[in-house]
Amino acid sequence: MAVYNFAAGPAMLPKKVMERAQAEFTNYQNCGSGIMELSHRGKLFQPVIDRAEANIRELLNISDDYAVLFIQGGASMQFCMLAMNLLNGGTADYVDTGVWSNKAAKEAKLFGNVNIVASSREAKYDHIPAADTWKRTADAAYMHITSNNTVAGSQYQVMPTPTPGVPMIADMSSDIMSRVFNVNDFGMFYAGAQKNLGPSGVALVVIRKDLAARTVEEKVPTMLRYSTYIENGSMFNTPPTFAIYMLALVTDWLKELGGVAAIEKINNEKAKYLYDFLDTSDFYKTPVAKADRSRMNVVFRTPSEELDAAFVAEAKKNGLTDLKGHRLVGGCRASIYNAMPMEGVQALVEFMKKFELANK
Ligand SMILES: *Cc1c(COP(=O)(O)O)cnc(C)c1O
Repeated sequence: MAVYNFAAGPAMLPKKVMERAQAEFTNYQNCGSGIMELSHRGKLFQPVIDRAEANIRELLNISDDYAVLFIQGGASMQFCMLAMNLLNGGTADYVDTGVWSNKAAKEAKLFGNVNIVASSREAKYDHIPAADTWKRTADAAYMHITSNNTVAGSQYQVMPTPTPGVPMIADMSSDIMSRVFNVNDFGMFYAGAQKNLGPSGVALVVIRKDLAARTVEEKVPTMLRYSTYIENGSMFNTPPTFAIYMLALVTDWLKELGGVAAIEKINNEKAKYLYDFLDTSDFYKTPVAKADRSRMNVVFRTPSEELDAAFVAEAKKNGLTDLKGHRLVGGCRASIYNAMPMEGVQALVEFMKKFELANK
């Protein structure tokens, strides 16, 4: 039986990537060792991290004004790290659209003033507040958004316009490389790798070099300064070599597939297929405002919590795994990142139809 894994993260990786990693696992380029057994300073690893960076630059069309960095600690580490480097007692704008943006704002408060420009918290994050209602700070140190809300299942359909003169920073953990966007609209963006880019253990950080230069070096520990990563090619200390290697493979795969525009088209088709079905059913409901629906994390419910649990358990028996909603919100969630093929979404919808008929 084919298994389709709908986990939110760590999430499924492209089969081809997993097979290539397996083929090279114990003997990388005939050197007799696996890549994870090799020194990061050796001859074989440097081309891997260089390729990962070059692939990312090509796929996202990133200019030399930006640094591409690989940092441990996940997206959560960036919540504090970006504020330590860029806030420094000033005021930062945060748009509160989900549990992750909320956590990001909380960390920033340790290093300056946080202005919540808008929040959908009271509405259980069922939508993204319209940008024309945001109460922005004219001279903020930066403005922070979460491009896709992994738990609530909402997503900016188009990225917001930055405040003039204020760098826009985005947590793109759960939709990076799923759609085309203009890098130059951002001062910085970051993503934990384990949703759309590879395994856990590394975060991708892309930051404009002039912004990284704002850090007050006396106040920020060496390992938490962006400049340390820039000056040392992300290898001031031992980087997560295997995670970076996997990221190189995933981005190789994405390039072969035709790049971000090509995967965006497939992602749109997958999401449309699933939402079109949800909209025809009165059995399943999605709480998210139609205009803000995520193309990555599709959140839905059956008529009761008991049926939600039965749905998740029975789906698993049918090879459709990890459909349980986030522990904070319950219900069901299908994460359909880049690696999820259309066949997986079709199999899910077929199962949903059967389950509805049997439990109506
Ligand atoms: C998963 C996720 C995080 C947390 O990532 P970690 O790498 O576990 O710290 C942060 N933000 C968003 C949007 C996420 O989806």
